[in-house]
Amino acid sequence: AKVAGKNCYRFYSRAMDQAVERRVHLEHELRGAWDRGELSLVYQPVYRLGDGAMVGAEALLRWRHPEQGLVAPSVFIDVAEQSGLIETLGPQVLRAACQDAVRWQHVRPAASEPLFVSVNVSPRQLRSGDLPNVVAACLHDTGLAAHNLHLELTETAVIGDEIHASNLLARLRSTGVKVWLDDFGTGFSGLSHLRRVPVDGVKIDRSFIADVLRDPDDLALTTAIIAMAHSLGITVVAEGVEKEGQYAVLRERGCDLAQGYWLGHPVGADEFMTLLG
Ligand code: C2E
Ligand code: CA
Ligand code: CA
Ligand code: CA
Repeated sequence: AKVAGKNCYRFYSRAMDQAVERRVHLEHELRGAWDRGELSLVYQPVYRLGDGAMVGAEALLRWRHPEQGLVAPSVFIDVAEQSGLIETLGPQVLRAACQDAVRWQHVRPAASEPLFVSVNVSPRQLRSGDLPNVVAACLHDTGLAAHNLHLELTETAVIGDEIHASNLLARLRSTGVKVWLDDFGTGFSGLSHLRRVPVDGVKIDRSFIADVLRDPDDLALTTAIIAMAHSLGITVVAEGVEKEGQYAVLRERGCDLAQGYWLGHPVGADEFMTLLG
């Protein structure tokens, strides 16, 4: 047993070394990836449940590695966050998304309401402090109206230093930008948080939506989140809607907006434009 244990240990430590090595390697390659044109944004449409109109889209980053193909965002965003690369990458993503959103408004019929673009902001970007300046510069340079930009923050970004986060969010919101809490319901803070942290909306995590037709607890939770958010004047988005039945039940429960594969997959910037004409 001792020998096996030792071998196990060696095996695990080698596997760990390899994982660390891979991260270091990825970090190195990610550093120049934007300039080499390997990174791009895809857009997933967001719909209003009341009338089925498309109202905006979420920008999602893609990395097409020359040898490895598509690298999962869950992997490379984490690398960017840990290494600090996100502090240069984040503003580049923000700028590109604002530029694309300005193009959308131009191809839309004159009378239609403008579409928002929703951009994910990582905890480190929020902590870096100059986010309000970065956002203001982006809006100024691209000409996107502030209310057409949504920033998606995770609960974990806000937890910890609530006073700092609240001040930052208040500053951002005072410029007209909308702030959303992403993956809502997965953190520990939950609903009580919403009283202290000023946000415009919450995105119910797709793990709840996945089971909303099968698991009464998830339906109850989803319904409670909607009711609570609405009582605070907060908008609710459901993400990960993959079935018509989920859409129907969310609509019936008064959820405001939804996105998911059933409604539309994330698509490249050019393809997204063809959805608008
Ligand atoms: P997220 O913000 O929760 O984004 C939603 C994820 O769900 C996306 O995965 C999207 O492709 C996927 N999705 C959309 N509809 C469905 C559905 O119906 N079913 C299922 N199962 N999944 C659906 P993706 O693109 O792989 O992104 C993963 C995460 O990476 C994002 O989660 C976000 O946290 C992060 N991320 C992506 N782009 C950026 C970025 O530009 N900046 C930052 N900071 N994070 C990003
Ligand atoms: Ca998101
Ligand atoms: Ca999410
Ligand atoms: Ca469940």
